[in-house]
Amino acid sequence: MCGIVAYIGTKSARPILLEGLKRLEYRGYDSAGLAILNEELHVERTVGRVRVLEEKLKHAQGFDGTLGIAHTRWATHGEPADRNAHPHRDDPTKGHGIAIIHNGIIENHNTLKTYLQEKGHVFSSETDTEVLAHLIGEFYEDDLEKAVQSALREVTGAYAIAAICASEPGVLVIARKGSPLMVGVGKDEYIVASDSSAIVAHTTQAFNLDDYTVARLTRDSFRTTTLDNVPITPQIRELEYSLDQIELGDYSHYMLKEIFEQPQALRMTLKGRIDAREGQVVLGGIAEYARELVRARRIIFVGQGTALHAAMIGEYIMEDLAKIPTEVEFASEFRYRNPIIEDGTVMVAISQSGETADTIAALQEGKSRGALALGLVNVVGSTISRETDAGVYLRVGPEIGVASTKAFLGQVMVATLLATFIGRRRFLSADYVSNLLQSLEVIPDHIERVVQLSDEIRDITSKYIDRENWLFLGRGHNYPVALEGALKLKEISYIHAEGMPAAEMKHGPIALIDNGMPVVFVATKNSQYEKVISNIEEVRSRGGHILAVATEGDDEIGRLCEEVFYVPDVPEPLQPMVTVVPLQLLAYHAAVLRGKDVDKPRNLAKSVTVE
Ligand code: GLU
Repeated sequence: MCGIVAYIGTKSARPILLEGLKRLEYRGYDSAGLAILNEELHVERTVGRVRVLEEKLKHAQGFDGTLGIAHTRWATHGEPADRNAHPHRDDPTKGHGIAIIHNGIIENHNTLKTYLQEKGHVFSSETDTEVLAHLIGEFYEDDLEKAVQSALREVTGAYAIAAICASEPGVLVIARKGSPLMVGVGKDEYIVASDSSAIVAHTTQAFNLDDYTVARLTRDSFRTTTLDNVPITPQIRELEYSLDQIELGDYSHYMLKEIFEQPQALRMTLKGRIDAREGQVVLGGIAEYARELVRARRIIFVGQGTALHAAMIGEYIMEDLAKIPTEVEFASEFRYRNPIIEDGTVMVAISQSGETADTIAALQEGKSRGALALGLVNVVGSTISRETDAGVYLRVGPEIGVASTKAFLGQVMVATLLATFIGRRRFLSADYVSNLLQSLEVIPDHIERVVQLSDEIRDITSKYIDRENWLFLGRGHNYPVALEGALKLKEISYIHAEGMPAAEMKHGPIALIDNGMPVVFVATKNSQYEKVISNIEEVRSRGGHILAVATEGDDEIGRLCEEVFYVPDVPEPLQPMVTVVPLQLLAYHAAVLRGKDVDKPRNLAKSVTVE
């Protein structure tokens, strides 16, 4: 959600900033803008894509310089429009020449705006960000760092900001609270960005800015302080991603690339973590808390979107394998619900980016009430990874596609490892675990076969591409898979789809089924197979067209369904990792067949860093 890039160094800032914005496009945005500071401040901004900004800049003068800030906006306050795009400036009548870019929401912007209007400030946009720019201007007394500190002490809400000032041409000031921001450290240069994808082309050394921290950067030095100017020392570390991991290569879209990468990604998730012969799961990140986990009385998973579906699968697996009462909740509901946290409660936050605002807040709520906090996240060093007591990284590599695929499988895999880790220390025998892990080890090979169905799935999808309403149904472990299949289709093809437990259909939604409506069943061989077959019959007799994900060798189902996607047979708790893959491909091909921009779906942001 929204992208920030800033550069200070010895090179020309403009191409670096534009390239950085392109790398961050996947996060989702509606407008773009850029400011360069040389003897003067130059600002250009526009509603629409980064390439529109690039085009505008071709005809603009003065954008040469070695210090600049750039932004892709995902509107929260004020419609997407040129005047609301960032950078925003302080009050021009005061003449400080300050420009800022901002990710997040200034919650008390109305109060601050009234205060500033009483002092004579005139605003030219509807954004909360412009209020902050004016407030920094109001506090400015020849020191940008101080003015930013003073302004942010008055602010409530969330922000990652970068600021420059015409009277200080060699200084870049950045700050954060609640929205991601990191600093790449190069030789005589710094590149600041919302995430590492805009940094790796320049340097592999970086640090994350902590909440309530301000950094003042010149081309060859930096210092970080709290809002009260107390110095702090950040931890510089090696970035885990390389440039080639975030390149598209021969694929037409990141989503397709990431679907095909899933076998390899899961091999990385598993690497060094299982010993199938000994029946052991090794999770270094949580080893220290093994006793608390074994004695846990309750586990609460929180997440949003796809991560919530992974959490739902986690619930089935946790109760199945670890035999600990487990529940799942939308992080956004949990955080405001006055939840009951008893002794022995473990909260598990799931998020690809580790920056999902609601999930962070839910975690903090649970922690403050005494829960042990675990994080299952992909991005190393992200906020959730830093705020939890312990955690397990997904290790699936950078996920650029807005519609999550490989991170979802990574989340399910890691939840399975966690449940097995605890279960083995409670009731599961070495033999049972050994068998389970042997099956787990070959899941990547199975997925490798399933992705080969891609062309077949495209051809089948094309037959139904004009249908506007779809149902996705499954039972047990495959019920969250049905939800995920429906979500994927909605997200990128804008087709209306609903997922639900197959048995729920009879309690109302069956009324929707008419002649030719596509209904996707996840109908693999497992303990509820017969029940699912009955549900298929019910849909068939009402004229629905059935597409089923079924187990290889199940010829029976072919007689009941119009279309069948066959997947390898795996033990029931592990089935979601295999059954979801045809549904990812179905959604992908549906979007492409409808001519949609798969990697930049409308209105969506990759990680939702505001409430
Ligand atoms: N709240 C700010 C705006 O609406 C920033 C949004 C963003 O994060 O892009 O302009």
